[in-house]
Amino acid sequence: MARAYNFSPGPAALPEVVLRQAQADMLEWGDAGASIVEISHRGPEFMQVAAQTEADVRTLLAVPDDYAVLFVPGGATTQQALIPLNFAEAGQVVDYVVTGHWGKTALKQLTPALRLNVAASSEADGFRSIPARDDWQLTRDAAYVHITANETIHGVEYRPAWGNPAPDTRDVPLVADFSSSIASEPIDLSRYGVVYAGAQKNLGPVGITVVIVRRDLLERAGQPRAHMFDYTAQLQNDSMLNTPPTWNWYLLGLTVRWMLDEGGTSEFDRRSNEKSRLLYDAIDASGGFYRNDVDPRVRSRMNVPFFLHDESRNDAFLSGAREAGLIGLKGHRVLGGMRASIYNAMPVAGVQALVDFMKEFRDSHG
Ligand code: PMP
Repeated sequence: MARAYNFSPGPAALPEVVLRQAQADMLEWGDAGASIVEISHRGPEFMQVAAQTEADVRTLLAVPDDYAVLFVPGGATTQQALIPLNFAEAGQVVDYVVTGHWGKTALKQLTPALRLNVAASSEADGFRSIPARDDWQLTRDAAYVHITANETIHGVEYRPAWGNPAPDTRDVPLVADFSSSIASEPIDLSRYGVVYAGAQKNLGPVGITVVIVRRDLLERAGQPRAHMFDYTAQLQNDSMLNTPPTWNWYLLGLTVRWMLDEGGTSEFDRRSNEKSRLLYDAIDASGGFYRNDVDPRVRSRMNVPFFLHDESRNDAFLSGAREAGLIGLKGHRVLGGMRASIYNAMPVAGVQALVDFMKEFRDSHG
């Protein structure tokens, strides 16, 4: 099969130009005399890659100077464990707003030394909405408030129509899991204490995670922890407390550069609007043949879960899609149905091809 339009939720599609560049660099990196994966992370060649990547991430995401940028292994889930260790002291309350599967996963990473307050949850309605900010039961002296900016499985995202994409938490730092929506639009990082994102959706390959932290938070004592789990130690060692995933870091750098070349986050904001509108319109105009149950004010622009009215046709839909060159559409086992992940590397033409296929499938099975 030739390269298809890949709607996989993560690991996800990468731009073809990035893959071609990586293919070329795989054998020989510049005049290093070896592949980029074969050289020391502390040598001048890789240090240059790391420095350029950080500079490009800072440009792409408009990272203010008083924020540190870390490139760490362990995925987003590990950060969900390290954030409470680094930023909350034993006995302190931490506030979590749960709007889907990943917000719930974050709760499992807390140590028993902390006092968890679920300030709001949409679980009762099947994670189809985001509770109104006025209904959040926040704690005045919480260590932080944690939200999931975009719920990858449930397809729920903080959007302006809900209120403010960055909810006001007054003096309590806002910690946000941006794994599946980072770089899809400009964000005002100064509204957040910590933003973290596994790379494998919008930023590049799996195996590396970006953590953006307001520097003053790094002065917090946190809880007793191993050196390896200490964000300040990572920062002081240029995110190289141990041998970092150099290949993943380098690929992330190529992907970030590609996003800058394409016009940056405002351009991806525009494309995300266009792509998600195409898809939601196709679902909503299908006369109930396809269905998305999320509150329209918070429908994700990155992950679009949808269901066929007649679920006995799911397999036929998936195999027909595959024949049409559309892959990665099977929904997560938690929800079932279908899901189209339309991250930055998915062109508008890919979503158009999906919408065309959906219409054809409906016409022949309606
Ligand atoms: N948070 C969100 C929003 C996610 O989508 C995912 C992965 N799909 C995770 C956390 C967990 O990420 P990882 O597998 O990198 O630990």
